[in-house]
Amino acid sequence: MDNSQYRPLNRDGFEIAIICALPRETNAILCAMDEIWHDCRHYYGKMTGDDNSYDFGRIGLHCVVIVTLPSMGVVKASSSSRSLKMSFNSIKLALLVGICGAVPFKRDGSEIVLGDVIISETIVELDYGRQYHGSFERKDSVLDVHGRPNEEILGLLQRWKVPAILETLRRGSMCHLRYLLQCLNIEYPGPNRDMLFQPDYIHKHREHCMGCSDTAGTVCQFAHAATCNDILCDESQLVARYRLEEAAKSGNKIPVPSIHIGTIGTGNAVIKSARHRDQYAQLEGIIAFEMEGVGAWDKFNCLVIKGVCDYADSHKSKTWQDYAAAVAAAVAKEVLRQYVMPQKLPQPPIPNCETP
Ligand SMILES: [Zn+2]
Ligand SMILES: [Zn+2]
Repeated sequence: MDNSQYRPLNRDGFEIAIICALPRETNAILCAMDEIWHDCRHYYGKMTGDDNSYDFGRIGLHCVVIVTLPSMGVVKASSSSRSLKMSFNSIKLALLVGICGAVPFKRDGSEIVLGDVIISETIVELDYGRQYHGSFERKDSVLDVHGRPNEEILGLLQRWKVPAILETLRRGSMCHLRYLLQCLNIEYPGPNRDMLFQPDYIHKHREHCMGCSDTAGTVCQFAHAATCNDILCDESQLVARYRLEEAAKSGNKIPVPSIHIGTIGTGNAVIKSARHRDQYAQLEGIIAFEMEGVGAWDKFNCLVIKGVCDYADSHKSKTWQDYAAAVAAAVAKEVLRQYVMPQKLPQPPIPNCETP
């Protein structure tokens, strides 16, 4: 039995939950923990009927329970969150941490690049609405369905809108990210592997394939599974990106994570269409897409913290997933270090941390 001075006596001592949908996301979070209490899993246990699997540990002064969902999607996130709430009824804040697809340009024209991090200001449920003949009318926003984030979360978000305070979040995250990349043995993929194609340039075979047809608008399953390199997607169709050009000038130096606070679209379908992505971005100001937010949002005070691993288009690949999971874990760690739980003592300083 681990005898850390921080370890709570029972499940009621856990006030922070971190929810991950993929093992690679959990792996990054476990590396980000200040302590992991592997021996405590039987000691804390769980309620009858709770099928979740839990890990326990500490970040800063917070005792954290970590849940890995059995699979992706809103339904699993919802049932796992219900179980989590049943077994751990003192949870004050849940962080949904992992990877997402994002829009390359926000409505104000500013850029999001791979490896940036999105924090939810609100979420929109993409599947929720009415299907009419020939059209789907979606309810406008999460406010219609799940209500606003509570005052405490709104206060946190408001604080990060102060540029000087957001900068402390970025710099603190950078410090954790350096350690995490080392610990996970992950390299920064670099600006040359961040490729955004024109929205109407589809990822498909352009020659010698019956399944990939311009006239029928179809793409074969082999093209779906292949990388852009495999099927020779035309790099003359790439969109120029100012931030990537700047990053390329500084070599392959790991960038300080950019953090965007905004609206996240959540749904059961993976978005792999630049046309749909850009419509959501323009019409509703959505900046990222993921599949679990709604399931946790309506049960806890919740923040979604996700690293951007693709542009939610047909060219999406897994190249950036591990790096994006590490950046999200680094930001989540810094969020918790800055988060002051009511009645807790001030956070200790981060030891031996050089900020760039
Ligand atoms: Zn094909
Ligand atoms: Zn491609």
